[in-house]
Amino acid sequence: MSEGVLITGDQNPLHLPAKKATDDTQWRSLDVGAEADYFLLEVGSESEAYRIIGLVRQKLLPAVYLKPLILINRGGDVSKSLQDQVDFVISSQQLEQQLPAKLLDEVESINRRIDALQEQRLKADTNIALRVVRYLYSRDREVEPVASIQNRGGYTFTGIESLFGGHDQSIWQTLDFLNSQHLVQTRFVTRTHQCASCGCAFLNFKETCPQCESEELDADDLIHHFRCGYTAELSDFRQDDRLVCPKCDQTLRHIGVDYDKPSMMYHCRSCDHRFQEPEIVTTCFDCHRTAPPENQIHRNIEAYKLSMLGVNAALYGLDSLFASILERRLQLLPLDVFERFIAVEKARIGRYKVSHSSLLLLDIKGLEEIYLTLGERTSEVYEELANLFYAMLRSSDLISSRNESMFLMLLTETSPDDAKIVEGRLSSGVGELLKASLGASPEIISQIVNVDNALDLTEYLESFLSEHHAE
Ligand SMILES: [Zn+2]
Ligand SMILES: [Zn+2]
Ligand SMILES: [Zn+2]
Repeated sequence: MSEGVLITGDQNPLHLPAKKATDDTQWRSLDVGAEADYFLLEVGSESEAYRIIGLVRQKLLPAVYLKPLILINRGGDVSKSLQDQVDFVISSQQLEQQLPAKLLDEVESINRRIDALQEQRLKADTNIALRVVRYLYSRDREVEPVASIQNRGGYTFTGIESLFGGHDQSIWQTLDFLNSQHLVQTRFVTRTHQCASCGCAFLNFKETCPQCESEELDADDLIHHFRCGYTAELSDFRQDDRLVCPKCDQTLRHIGVDYDKPSMMYHCRSCDHRFQEPEIVTTCFDCHRTAPPENQIHRNIEAYKLSMLGVNAALYGLDSLFASILERRLQLLPLDVFERFIAVEKARIGRYKVSHSSLLLLDIKGLEEIYLTLGERTSEVYEELANLFYAMLRSSDLISSRNESMFLMLLTETSPDDAKIVEGRLSSGVGELLKASLGASPEIISQIVNVDNALDLTEYLESFLSEHHAE
């Protein structure tokens, strides 16, 4: 029997009310709601719905941000965009009875996929590209572009929009990145023009005079009379409500039979020039730059779904790229193995009381940006980063990673003071390398912890994450 958690609009969803189901457990936070099978959304307005969906989808725990969302419709239409952002919409009558079996089946199949992710020791996901990959994996669906005037790119992807905090540019960047890494497959949908300087899809296409560039033009059809061959502008043929040929005086009757309209004739009101081929220019509604259409961006608008590589990334993380490079240079230990080494080290130090070992944590916030801004050059930069780690660590040191940007190093026989030297070199080296490739210094947080009995690695990591990767 599956159970959901009800989220209503008038309550702060971070402090959930009692469960809808029989017991009256108070849910203190959405993270506690991780245990539920789905979230039921009961809200008074669409904007309230979007707000709550955003809160859920921007949480860090896969069991929360990927949770199936069921919207309760109390009557009236639910917009297509809102339908796209939740998994199911049900009427309040359906809720009175039992939820339909088919819906529960689908909820279960999403949850099975989320469970498969959970098994990979994933506690909190901070990387947006990875979150998109995992969302697509859990839904086993394609995300389609939707034309929208709310989005300056002219299209949005309502299916994944709520994963982003309203920065529509980053949706494109993320999808482009996933594509460049072959993590998604694309399906052509349409093409669009976008402003080359600001990316805005709202362009004004205008005919202008080839001689003086004026936009003030009169356009008229050109008429060709078959019988006498006379060709002139439509206005020359007009007599009251009839068309009469000025050359042979015959009345024109049927287009295609005794006359046709081979093209248009333009007249510039500014310089009096007459011509058939105007220059086309485009002006951006946002940044007001004008350029010929061929100088604007002409891009394919595509639908995306995970490739096999993407499924792999969903399950094992995007860090597999950096990790596999690191692995070639250093032995990057899985976190659980690393934890066991820490336990052994704690015991050894406790028993002999003669030496010190240090745990060095390095959290490189800019590493996520690398995915987004470097695209194809990512692996090159990773290679250099791996070299840097290699140069700094001794063969007796152990390294592991918590997510794709956080590294843990056990520096054996190293006092916290000596560890400080390694810490300084490593973080300044990483900082300089990333500044050279990204053009900006990433935020690097490093910490040193003495390895002794007081150290609980899991607890330490969780508190570090909640402090530095707070939502
Ligand atoms: Zn004629
Ligand atoms: Zn002109
Ligand atoms: Zn523009």
